[in-house]
Amino acid sequence: MLCDLCQQDTVTELEQLKYQLTFQYRIDKICRSCQGKFSLIEGNTCRGCGRSLAKQELCADCLQWRRQAGCIVQSQAIYHYDEQMAAFFAAYKFQSGYHLRYTFTKAIRQRLRLIRYDTLVPIPVSAGTLNRRGFDHVQGLFTGMRLCPLLLCRQPSKTSLVQQGREARLKTRQPFIINSASRLDKGQRICVVDDVYTTGRTMRHAMLCLKEAGYRVVQGLTLAR
Ligand SMILES: [Zn+2]
Ligand SMILES: [Zn+2]
Repeated sequence: MLCDLCQQDTVTELEQLKYQLTFQYRIDKICRSCQGKFSLIEGNTCRGCGRSLAKQELCADCLQWRRQAGCIVQSQAIYHYDEQMAAFFAAYKFQSGYHLRYTFTKAIRQRLRLIRYDTLVPIPVSAGTLNRRGFDHVQGLFTGMRLCPLLLCRQPSKTSLVQQGREARLKTRQPFIINSASRLDKGQRICVVDDVYTTGRTMRHAMLCLKEAGYRVVQGLTLAR
């Protein structure tokens, strides 16, 4: 069987069987060599955004954000978003690779053991993306874990689209709303999860939306950044 990432190496049936027997989840169709190329974020990180740093302190971006907004985002990531991770996401998200959702289950579970939380709240995927892709790629990565879909994407109304016009307004607009159908106790400690941390804007909006509704957010966690 050809590897989904390098298209060369083969994943033998024996290897697949071994994964299934030893871990109860599958690392389907990614060869050993490709698995070894994902790069963990190790050592000191910014306690605001999870970026690698020489010391465990705040990076320049987070310091600036704290000056402007009076708070930091507090999100950590497990892997570096490098070429290998980009190849994974291309296969997973854009080539219908839903079977690849288990690739990082073990690493995610290990990291979650270090966080004191009660419930994971995933960043929601818009209805358009969900229709196009056929699956929720964020929830997929956290398959089998306690997920509460407390956030929803705000539907853009026609009037607000006309009023906005400018990119700057889109950037600052809160894209999420609370899912009133999901009844979560406000005492529950929430860890917000997403696939990739880029500018931190999405994570900030998600945390702010939850906090403003009275929820207790302890941290954000993404697979990569
Ligand atoms: Zn490979
Ligand atoms: Zn930072």
